[in-house]
Amino acid sequence: MGRTTDGNDHRRLGCRQVRRTLQAFLDGEVEPRRAELVAAHLESCARCQVEAEVFEQVIATIRQLRPDLDLAAYTRLVEATEQLSGRDPP
Ligand SMILES: [Zn+2]
Repeated sequence: MGRTTDGNDHRRLGCRQVRRTLQAFLDGEVEPRRAELVAAHLESCARCQVEAEVFEQVIATIRQLRPDLDLAAYTRLVEATEQLSGRDPP
């Protein structure tokens, strides 16, 4: 019987997971437990914090300009763009 030393580490989300969840998180569509993890990550990760703020502003702007636009499609577009540019946060 080995003892586990991972503590609560597995409860932490990686930057990649957080960024995937950002849109739903900002929309309040994430389940409370996950939203808590995302919020905790944003508090400890400046990069994702900036990302969330920018994301929020972009979404707010798009909603004002184009209330009929499918934001989920937009999010996928952003993700695809990030993958193309080879950005891979640690
Ligand atoms: Zn992060």
